[in-house]
Amino acid sequence: MEEKRNGLRVILFPLPLQGCINPMLQLANILHSRGFSITVIHTRFNAPKASSHPLFTFLQISDGLSETQTKDGPSPNVMSLLAQINVNAESPFRDCLRELLLESKESERVSCLIDDCGWLFTQTVAESLNLPRLVLCTFKATFFNAYPSLPLIRTKGYLPVSDSEAEDSVPEFPPLQKRDLSKVFGEFGEKLDPFLHAVVETTMSSSGLIFMSCEELEKDSLTIANEIFKVPIFAIGPFHSYFSASSSSLFTQDETCIPWLGNQKDKSVIYVSLGSVVNITETEFLEIACGLSNSKQPFLWVVRPGSVLGAKWTEPLSEGLVRSLEEKGKIVKWAPQQEVLAHRAIGGFLTHNGWNSTLESICEGVPMICLPGGWDQMLNSRFVSDIWKIGIHLEGRIDKKEIEKAVRMLMEENEGEKIRERMKVLKDEVEKSVKHGGSSFQSIETLANHILLL
Ligand code: UDP
Repeated sequence: MEEKRNGLRVILFPLPLQGCINPMLQLANILHSRGFSITVIHTRFNAPKASSHPLFTFLQISDGLSETQTKDGPSPNVMSLLAQINVNAESPFRDCLRELLLESKESERVSCLIDDCGWLFTQTVAESLNLPRLVLCTFKATFFNAYPSLPLIRTKGYLPVSDSEAEDSVPEFPPLQKRDLSKVFGEFGEKLDPFLHAVVETTMSSSGLIFMSCEELEKDSLTIANEIFKVPIFAIGPFHSYFSASSSSLFTQDETCIPWLGNQKDKSVIYVSLGSVVNITETEFLEIACGLSNSKQPFLWVVRPGSVLGAKWTEPLSEGLVRSLEEKGKIVKWAPQQEVLAHRAIGGFLTHNGWNSTLESICEGVPMICLPGGWDQMLNSRFVSDIWKIGIHLEGRIDKKEIEKAVRMLMEENEGEKIRERMKVLKDEVEKSVKHGGSSFQSIETLANHILLL
Protein backbone atom coordinates (compact mmCIF):
# COMPACT_ATOMS: atom_id res chain seq x y z
CA MET A 1 0.00 0.00 0.00
CA GLU A 2 2.75 2.45 0.99
CA GLU A 3 4.18 2.54 -2.51
CA LYS A 4 0.82 3.59 -3.89
CA ARG A 5 0.83 6.59 -1.55
CA ASN A 6 3.94 7.89 -3.26
CA GLY A 7 2.59 10.22 -5.87
CA LEU A 8 -0.25 11.39 -3.65
CA ARG A 9 -0.22 14.86 -2.14
CA VAL A 10 -2.20 15.95 0.91
CA ILE A 11 -2.90 19.64 1.52
CA LEU A 12 -3.02 20.83 5.12
CA PHE A 13 -4.37 24.14 6.39
CA PRO A 14 -3.86 24.85 10.14
CA LEU A 15 -5.58 27.58 12.13
CA PRO A 16 -2.90 30.13 13.03
CA LEU A 17 -2.70 29.35 16.76
CA GLN A 18 0.14 27.52 18.51
CA GLY A 19 -2.19 24.82 19.88
CA CYS A 20 -3.53 24.16 16.34
CA ILE A 21 -0.29 24.52 14.34
CA ASN A 22 1.55 21.94 16.47
CA PRO A 23 -0.91 19.09 15.87
CA MET A 24 -1.31 19.93 12.16
CA LEU A 25 2.43 19.81 11.52
CA GLN A 26 2.74 16.64 13.58
CA LEU A 27 -0.03 15.15 11.43
CA ALA A 28 1.95 16.29 8.37
CA ASN A 29 4.93 14.31 9.66
CA ILE A 30 2.79 11.26 10.38
CA LEU A 31 1.35 11.27 6.84
CA HIS A 32 4.72 11.99 5.27
CA SER A 33 6.18 8.98 7.08
CA ARG A 34 3.41 6.92 5.46
CA GLY A 35 4.45 7.98 1.97
CA PHE A 36 2.33 11.09 1.25
CA SER A 37 3.73 14.38 -0.05
CA ILE A 38 2.70 17.40 1.98
CA THR A 39 1.74 20.97 1.11
CA VAL A 40 0.87 23.33 3.97
CA ILE A 41 -1.21 26.40 3.16
CA HIS A 42 -0.95 28.95 5.95
CA THR A 43 -1.87 32.52 6.78
CA ARG A 44 0.69 35.32 7.02
CA PHE A 45 -0.19 35.74 10.70
CA ASN A 46 1.57 33.14 12.88
CA ALA A 47 3.17 31.58 9.82
CA PRO A 48 4.95 28.32 10.65
CA LYS A 49 8.72 28.32 10.11
CA ALA A 50 9.13 26.59 6.75
CA SER A 51 12.87 26.11 7.31
CA SER A 52 12.14 23.76 10.24
CA HIS A 53 10.22 21.45 7.89
CA PRO A 54 12.32 21.06 4.74
CA LEU A 55 10.32 18.04 3.56
CA PHE A 56 7.09 20.00 3.10
CA THR A 57 6.01 22.71 0.67
CA PHE A 58 4.64 25.87 2.33
CA LEU A 59 2.31 28.36 0.65
CA GLN A 60 1.35 31.60 2.35
CA ILE A 61 -1.98 33.28 1.76
CA SER A 62 -3.15 36.73 2.79
CA ASP A 63 -5.27 36.91 5.96
CA GLY A 64 -6.22 40.60 5.72
CA LEU A 65 -5.37 41.17 9.39
CA SER A 66 -4.15 44.62 10.36
CA GLU A 67 -1.31 45.34 12.76
CA THR A 68 -3.78 46.30 15.49
CA GLN A 69 -5.45 42.91 15.21
CA THR A 70 -2.16 41.07 15.63
CA LYS A 71 -0.62 43.43 18.20
CA ASP A 72 -0.70 40.74 20.90
CA GLY A 73 1.95 38.78 19.00
CA PRO A 74 1.39 35.07 18.51
CA SER A 75 -1.33 35.04 21.23
CA PRO A 76 -4.32 36.90 19.84
CA ASN A 77 -7.84 37.38 21.13
CA VAL A 78 -8.93 34.01 19.77
CA MET A 79 -12.62 34.53 19.06
CA SER A 80 -12.23 37.87 17.32
CA LEU A 81 -9.31 36.51 15.30
CA LEU A 82 -11.31 33.46 14.25
CA ALA A 83 -14.23 35.60 13.15
CA GLN A 84 -12.04 37.98 11.12
CA ILE A 85 -9.85 35.44 9.52
CA ASN A 86 -12.75 33.19 8.56
CA VAL A 87 -13.99 36.06 6.43
CA ASN A 88 -10.69 37.42 5.14
CA ALA A 89 -8.95 34.20 4.18
CA GLU A 90 -11.72 32.55 2.12
CA SER A 91 -10.98 34.10 -1.23
CA PRO A 92 -7.15 33.83 -1.05
CA PHE A 93 -7.56 30.22 0.11
CA ARG A 94 -9.88 29.39 -2.78
CA ASP A 95 -7.44 30.92 -5.30
CA CYS A 96 -4.49 29.09 -3.79
CA LEU A 97 -6.25 25.73 -3.75
CA ARG A 98 -7.57 26.14 -7.30
CA GLU A 99 -4.07 26.93 -8.52
CA LEU A 100 -2.66 23.88 -6.74
CA LEU A 101 -5.24 21.60 -8.29
CA LEU A 102 -4.59 23.02 -11.77
CA GLU A 103 -0.89 22.42 -11.33
CA SER A 104 -1.26 18.92 -9.90
CA LYS A 105 0.04 16.39 -12.33
CA GLU A 106 -1.26 12.86 -12.74
CA SER A 107 2.10 11.67 -11.34
CA GLU A 108 1.35 13.50 -8.09
CA ARG A 109 -2.36 13.81 -7.60
CA VAL A 110 -3.79 15.97 -4.79
CA SER A 111 -5.86 13.47 -2.83
CA CYS A 112 -7.49 15.60 -0.14
CA LEU A 113 -7.49 18.67 2.06
CA ILE A 114 -7.11 18.30 5.83
CA ASP A 115 -7.87 21.40 7.86
CA ASP A 116 -8.80 22.53 11.34
CA CYS A 117 -12.41 22.21 12.54
CA GLY A 118 -12.29 25.98 13.27
CA TRP A 119 -12.21 26.91 9.56
CA LEU A 120 -15.76 27.57 8.42
CA PHE A 121 -15.34 28.08 4.64
CA THR A 122 -13.05 25.22 3.68
CA GLN A 123 -15.77 22.58 3.19
CA THR A 124 -17.63 24.73 0.66
CA VAL A 125 -14.41 25.65 -1.14
CA ALA A 126 -13.23 22.03 -1.26
CA GLU A 127 -16.64 20.83 -2.51
CA SER A 128 -16.70 23.46 -5.24
CA LEU A 129 -13.33 22.19 -6.45
CA ASN A 130 -14.32 18.52 -6.08
CA LEU A 131 -11.67 17.89 -3.46
CA PRO A 132 -12.48 15.63 -0.48
CA ARG A 133 -11.91 17.31 2.90
CA LEU A 134 -11.01 15.74 6.23
CA VAL A 135 -11.34 17.63 9.52
CA LEU A 136 -8.71 17.74 12.24
CA CYS A 137 -10.20 18.31 15.70
CA THR A 138 -7.62 19.54 18.22
CA PHE A 139 -10.02 19.10 21.16
CA LYS A 140 -10.92 16.05 23.20
CA ALA A 141 -13.70 14.17 21.36
CA THR A 142 -15.98 14.53 24.42
CA PHE A 143 -15.80 18.31 24.01
CA PHE A 144 -16.33 18.33 20.26
CA ASN A 145 -19.35 16.04 20.71
CA ALA A 146 -20.98 18.79 22.78
CA TYR A 147 -20.85 21.36 19.95
CA PRO A 148 -24.39 20.55 18.72
CA SER A 149 -25.82 20.77 22.25
CA LEU A 150 -23.91 23.76 23.68
CA PRO A 151 -26.54 26.32 22.52
CA LEU A 152 -29.23 24.26 24.27
CA ILE A 153 -27.15 23.88 27.44
CA ARG A 154 -26.67 27.65 27.50
CA THR A 155 -30.41 28.26 27.55
CA LYS A 156 -31.18 25.64 30.22
CA GLY A 157 -30.98 28.21 33.01
CA TYR A 158 -27.98 26.69 34.80
CA LEU A 159 -26.35 30.14 34.93
CA PRO A 160 -25.83 32.00 37.15
CA VAL A 161 -25.11 29.01 39.33
CA SER A 162 -25.97 29.00 43.05
CA ASP A 163 -23.43 27.79 45.62
CA SER A 164 -25.55 24.75 46.42
CA GLU A 165 -25.56 23.63 42.78
CA ALA A 166 -22.03 24.66 41.78
CA GLU A 167 -20.59 21.15 42.03
CA ASP A 168 -23.52 19.41 40.32
CA SER A 169 -22.76 17.69 37.06
CA VAL A 170 -24.20 19.29 33.92
CA PRO A 171 -26.65 16.46 33.01
CA GLU A 172 -26.10 16.93 29.23
CA PHE A 173 -22.35 17.23 29.57
CA PRO A 174 -20.73 15.14 32.32
CA PRO A 175 -18.22 15.34 33.98
CA LEU A 176 -18.48 19.11 33.48
CA GLN A 177 -19.83 20.82 36.62
CA LYS A 178 -22.30 23.69 36.57
CA ARG A 179 -19.67 26.04 37.99
CA ASP A 180 -17.52 25.37 34.88
CA LEU A 181 -20.16 26.62 32.47
CA SER A 182 -19.56 30.36 32.73
CA LYS A 183 -15.95 29.86 31.66
CA VAL A 184 -16.96 27.56 28.80
CA PHE A 185 -19.20 30.23 27.32
CA GLY A 186 -17.08 33.22 28.40
CA GLU A 187 -18.44 36.56 27.31
CA PHE A 188 -19.65 35.22 23.98
CA GLY A 189 -23.03 33.77 24.92
CA GLU A 190 -25.37 33.36 21.97
CA LYS A 191 -22.81 34.86 19.58
CA LEU A 192 -21.20 31.42 19.62
CA ASP A 193 -24.26 29.63 18.23
CA PRO A 194 -23.74 30.33 14.50
CA PHE A 195 -20.08 29.36 14.82
CA LEU A 196 -20.91 26.05 16.54
CA HIS A 197 -23.67 25.33 14.03
CA ALA A 198 -21.33 25.95 11.07
CA VAL A 199 -18.60 23.73 12.53
CA VAL A 200 -21.06 20.87 13.06
CA GLU A 201 -22.57 21.22 9.57
CA THR A 202 -19.24 21.39 7.75
CA THR A 203 -17.84 18.47 9.74
CA MET A 204 -20.90 16.36 8.89
CA SER A 205 -20.34 17.09 5.19
CA SER A 206 -16.67 16.14 5.36
CA SER A 207 -15.00 12.87 4.41
CA GLY A 208 -13.75 12.09 7.91
CA LEU A 209 -12.79 13.39 11.32
CA ILE A 210 -9.32 13.00 12.85
CA PHE A 211 -8.79 13.24 16.62
CA MET A 212 -5.52 13.53 18.50
CA SER A 213 -6.79 11.07 21.01
CA CYS A 214 -7.15 7.34 21.49
CA GLU A 215 -9.56 4.63 22.63
CA GLU A 216 -7.64 4.27 25.88
CA LEU A 217 -8.61 7.85 26.79
CA GLU A 218 -12.14 8.08 25.43
CA LYS A 219 -13.51 5.01 23.67
CA ASP A 220 -17.16 5.91 24.32
CA SER A 221 -16.77 9.50 23.15
CA LEU A 222 -15.20 8.31 19.92
CA THR A 223 -18.16 6.01 19.29
CA ILE A 224 -20.53 8.90 20.04
CA ALA A 225 -18.57 11.19 17.68
CA ASN A 226 -19.20 8.68 14.93
CA GLU A 227 -22.96 8.71 15.73
CA ILE A 228 -23.16 12.51 15.87
CA PHE A 229 -21.07 13.50 12.86
CA LYS A 230 -21.81 10.39 10.76
CA VAL A 231 -18.39 10.38 9.11
CA PRO A 232 -15.44 7.98 9.53
CA ILE A 233 -13.53 8.72 12.75
CA PHE A 234 -9.76 8.30 13.14
CA ALA A 235 -8.30 8.51 16.67
CA ILE A 236 -4.64 8.27 15.87
CA GLY A 237 -3.22 8.97 19.33
CA PRO A 238 -1.36 11.86 20.95
CA PHE A 239 0.51 13.13 17.87
CA HIS A 240 3.65 14.12 19.75
CA SER A 241 4.20 10.44 20.62
CA TYR A 242 5.34 10.16 16.99
CA PHE A 243 6.80 13.63 16.29
CA SER A 244 7.80 16.43 18.67
CA ALA A 245 5.90 19.71 18.66
CA SER A 246 8.99 21.83 19.28
CA SER A 247 9.92 22.31 15.61
CA SER A 248 6.62 24.19 15.10
CA SER A 249 7.05 26.60 18.00
CA LEU A 250 6.05 30.19 17.16
CA PHE A 251 7.97 31.54 20.16
CA THR A 252 11.69 31.33 20.84
CA GLN A 253 12.27 28.47 23.26
CA ASP A 254 14.61 29.12 26.16
CA GLU A 255 16.91 26.12 25.97
CA THR A 256 18.69 27.02 29.24
CA CYS A 257 15.84 25.19 31.03
CA ILE A 258 17.36 21.84 30.22
CA PRO A 259 20.80 22.28 31.85
CA TRP A 260 19.02 23.97 34.78
CA LEU A 261 16.77 20.90 35.16
CA GLY A 262 19.90 18.77 34.96
CA ASN A 263 21.00 20.26 38.29
CA GLN A 264 17.75 19.33 40.07
CA LYS A 265 16.83 16.11 41.86
CA ASP A 266 14.58 13.49 40.22
CA LYS A 267 10.86 14.42 40.20
CA SER A 268 11.50 17.47 42.37
CA VAL A 269 10.51 20.32 40.00
CA ILE A 270 7.02 21.66 39.37
CA TYR A 271 6.66 22.96 35.79
CA VAL A 272 4.22 25.87 35.43
CA SER A 273 2.78 27.00 32.11
CA LEU A 274 -0.60 28.33 31.02
CA GLY A 275 -0.05 27.80 27.29
CA SER A 276 -0.08 30.21 24.39
CA VAL A 277 -3.40 32.04 24.85
CA VAL A 278 -4.50 32.27 28.52
CA ASN A 279 -3.88 35.63 30.22
CA ILE A 280 -3.99 36.39 33.96
CA THR A 281 -4.33 39.56 36.01
CA GLU A 282 -1.45 41.10 37.91
CA THR A 283 -3.03 40.04 41.24
CA GLU A 284 -3.32 36.43 40.03
CA PHE A 285 0.28 36.54 38.82
CA LEU A 286 1.50 37.67 42.23
CA GLU A 287 -0.56 35.00 44.01
CA ILE A 288 1.03 32.30 41.82
CA ALA A 289 4.49 33.79 42.51
CA CYS A 290 3.96 33.78 46.29
CA GLY A 291 2.38 30.31 46.23
CA LEU A 292 5.39 28.88 44.36
CA SER A 293 7.87 30.69 46.57
CA ASN A 294 6.15 29.58 49.80
CA SER A 295 5.95 25.96 48.64
CA LYS A 296 9.78 25.81 48.84
CA GLN A 297 9.66 23.41 45.90
CA PRO A 298 11.93 23.97 42.87
CA PHE A 299 9.92 25.27 39.89
CA LEU A 300 10.29 26.13 36.23
CA TRP A 301 7.75 28.81 35.33
CA VAL A 302 6.85 29.93 31.81
CA VAL A 303 5.64 33.54 31.92
CA ARG A 304 4.74 34.34 28.31
CA PRO A 305 5.48 38.03 27.59
CA GLY A 306 2.16 39.90 27.59
CA SER A 307 0.30 37.13 29.43
CA VAL A 308 0.09 39.21 32.63
CA LEU A 309 -2.49 41.86 31.79
CA GLY A 310 -1.04 45.35 31.81
CA ALA A 311 2.58 44.13 32.08
CA LYS A 312 5.27 43.44 29.52
CA TRP A 313 6.72 40.49 31.39
CA THR A 314 7.55 39.94 35.09
CA GLU A 315 7.93 43.58 36.22
CA PRO A 316 5.02 43.38 38.75
CA LEU A 317 7.29 41.20 40.93
CA SER A 318 9.04 43.15 43.69
CA GLU A 319 12.81 42.83 44.09
CA GLY A 320 12.31 40.88 47.31
CA LEU A 321 9.97 38.42 45.63
CA VAL A 322 12.34 37.99 42.69
CA ARG A 323 15.14 37.13 45.13
CA SER A 324 13.04 34.59 46.96
CA LEU A 325 11.81 33.06 43.66
CA GLU A 326 15.35 32.79 42.33
CA GLU A 327 16.40 30.73 45.36
CA LYS A 328 14.41 27.76 44.15
CA GLY A 329 13.15 28.45 40.69
CA LYS A 330 13.65 29.63 37.13
CA ILE A 331 11.34 31.85 35.09
CA VAL A 332 11.47 31.74 31.28
CA LYS A 333 9.47 33.31 28.45
CA TRP A 334 8.82 30.05 26.58
CA ALA A 335 10.09 26.53 27.15
CA PRO A 336 10.71 23.46 24.98
CA GLN A 337 7.70 21.97 26.78
CA GLN A 338 7.79 18.42 25.53
CA GLU A 339 11.47 18.09 26.40
CA VAL A 340 10.83 19.67 29.80
CA LEU A 341 7.96 17.30 30.63
CA ALA A 342 10.10 14.33 29.60
CA HIS A 343 12.94 15.41 31.91
CA ARG A 344 13.59 13.15 34.92
CA ALA A 345 13.63 16.22 37.23
CA ILE A 346 9.97 17.14 36.54
CA GLY A 347 7.51 15.88 39.17
CA GLY A 348 4.39 17.92 38.45
CA PHE A 349 2.76 20.30 35.97
CA LEU A 350 0.65 23.30 36.96
CA THR A 351 -1.27 23.67 33.71
CA HIS A 352 -4.21 25.39 32.03
CA ASN A 353 -5.12 21.97 30.57
CA GLY A 354 -5.06 22.83 26.89
CA TRP A 355 -5.57 19.50 25.11
CA ASN A 356 -1.98 19.45 23.77
CA SER A 357 -0.51 20.13 27.21
CA THR A 358 -2.80 17.60 28.89
CA LEU A 359 -1.80 14.87 26.42
CA GLU A 360 1.89 15.78 26.63
CA SER A 361 1.70 15.49 30.42
CA ILE A 362 -0.08 12.12 30.27
CA CYS A 363 2.44 10.74 27.79
CA GLU A 364 5.33 11.72 30.05
CA GLY A 365 3.52 10.45 33.16
CA VAL A 366 3.57 13.87 34.87
CA PRO A 367 0.67 14.47 37.32
CA MET A 368 -1.07 17.84 37.10
CA ILE A 369 -2.42 20.77 39.08
CA CYS A 370 -5.34 22.08 37.04
CA LEU A 371 -5.91 25.79 36.45
CA PRO A 372 -8.11 25.90 33.33
CA GLY A 373 -8.73 29.26 31.67
CA GLY A 374 -11.86 28.51 29.65
CA TRP A 375 -13.52 26.63 26.74
CA ASP A 376 -12.42 22.96 26.39
CA GLN A 377 -9.86 23.37 29.21
CA MET A 378 -12.78 23.26 31.68
CA LEU A 379 -13.67 19.75 30.51
CA ASN A 380 -10.10 18.47 30.14
CA SER A 381 -9.35 19.47 33.73
CA ARG A 382 -12.46 17.61 35.00
CA PHE A 383 -11.23 14.45 33.28
CA VAL A 384 -7.80 14.93 34.84
CA SER A 385 -9.07 15.49 38.38
CA ASP A 386 -12.42 13.66 38.58
CA ILE A 387 -12.31 10.80 36.06
CA TRP A 388 -8.70 9.75 35.59
CA LYS A 389 -7.75 11.16 39.02
CA ILE A 390 -4.28 12.12 37.84
CA GLY A 391 -4.27 15.68 39.13
CA ILE A 392 -5.50 18.19 41.68
CA HIS A 393 -8.05 20.83 40.62
CA LEU A 394 -7.52 24.35 41.96
CA GLU A 395 -11.21 25.12 41.26
CA GLY A 396 -10.20 28.52 39.92
CA ARG A 397 -8.80 29.62 43.29
CA ILE A 398 -5.70 31.55 42.26
CA ASP A 399 -4.66 32.10 45.83
CA LYS A 400 -1.14 31.73 47.24
CA LYS A 401 -2.22 29.41 50.08
CA GLU A 402 -4.18 27.12 47.71
CA ILE A 403 -1.28 26.98 45.27
CA GLU A 404 1.24 26.22 48.00
CA LYS A 405 -1.08 23.51 49.40
CA ALA A 406 -1.62 21.89 46.00
CA VAL A 407 2.09 21.93 45.13
CA ARG A 408 3.03 20.36 48.48
CA MET A 409 0.25 17.78 48.22
CA LEU A 410 1.29 16.72 44.73
CA MET A 411 5.04 16.75 45.26
CA GLU A 412 5.48 15.66 48.87
CA GLU A 413 2.42 13.95 50.31
CA ASN A 414 0.79 10.53 50.21
CA GLU A 415 -2.08 11.73 48.07
CA GLY A 416 0.47 12.89 45.47
CA GLU A 417 2.02 9.43 45.46
CA LYS A 418 -1.38 7.83 44.72
CA ILE A 419 -1.99 10.31 41.90
CA ARG A 420 1.45 9.46 40.50
CA GLU A 421 0.66 5.73 40.54
CA ARG A 422 -2.62 6.24 38.65
CA MET A 423 -0.79 8.46 36.17
CA LYS A 424 1.73 5.70 35.51
CA VAL A 425 -1.06 3.24 34.69
CA LEU A 426 -2.72 5.67 32.24
CA LYS A 427 0.61 6.59 30.65
CA ASP A 428 1.37 2.90 30.03
CA GLU A 429 -2.04 2.32 28.42
CA VAL A 430 -1.65 5.30 26.09
CA GLU A 431 1.87 4.19 25.24
CA LYS A 432 0.59 0.77 24.18
CA SER A 433 -1.96 2.45 21.95
CA VAL A 434 0.66 4.21 19.81
CA LYS A 435 2.96 1.21 19.52
CA HIS A 436 2.84 -1.29 16.67
CA GLY A 437 -0.50 -3.15 16.87
CA GLY A 438 -2.06 -0.61 19.28
CA SER A 439 -5.41 1.03 18.51
CA SER A 440 -3.93 4.43 17.51
CA PHE A 441 -1.23 2.85 15.41
CA GLN A 442 -3.82 0.82 13.52
CA SER A 443 -5.98 3.91 13.12
CA ILE A 444 -3.12 5.67 11.31
CA GLU A 445 -3.02 2.82 8.83
CA THR A 446 -6.79 3.01 8.37
CA LEU A 447 -6.55 6.77 7.82
CA ALA A 448 -3.74 6.41 5.28
CA ASN A 449 -5.75 3.82 3.34
CA HIS A 450 -8.89 5.97 3.57
CA ILE A 451 -7.00 8.89 1.98
CA LEU A 452 -5.70 6.57 -0.71
CA LEU A 453 -9.23 5.58 -1.67
CA LEU A 454 -10.75 9.07 -1.63
N1 UDP B 1 4.24 25.01 24.63
C1 UDP B 1 5.61 25.11 24.48
N2 UDP B 1 6.31 25.87 25.38
C2 UDP B 1 5.71 26.53 26.41
C3 UDP B 1 4.31 26.41 26.56
C4 UDP B 1 3.61 25.64 25.66
O1 UDP B 1 6.19 24.52 23.57
O2 UDP B 1 6.43 27.22 27.15
C5 UDP B 1 3.49 24.18 23.65
C6 UDP B 1 2.93 22.93 24.30
O3 UDP B 1 3.90 21.90 24.27
C7 UDP B 1 1.69 22.66 23.46
C8 UDP B 1 1.27 24.02 22.95
O4 UDP B 1 2.37 24.90 23.17
O5 UDP B 1 2.02 21.80 22.39
C9 UDP B 1 0.08 24.60 23.69
O6 UDP B 1 -1.07 23.95 23.29
P1 UDP B 1 -2.27 23.68 24.30
O7 UDP B 1 -3.34 22.97 23.54
O8 UDP B 1 -1.79 22.99 25.51
O9 UDP B 1 -2.73 25.10 24.78
P2 UDP B 1 -3.07 26.48 24.04
O10 UDP B 1 -1.79 27.21 23.91
O11 UDP B 1 -3.71 26.14 22.71
O12 UDP B 1 -4.00 27.14 25.00
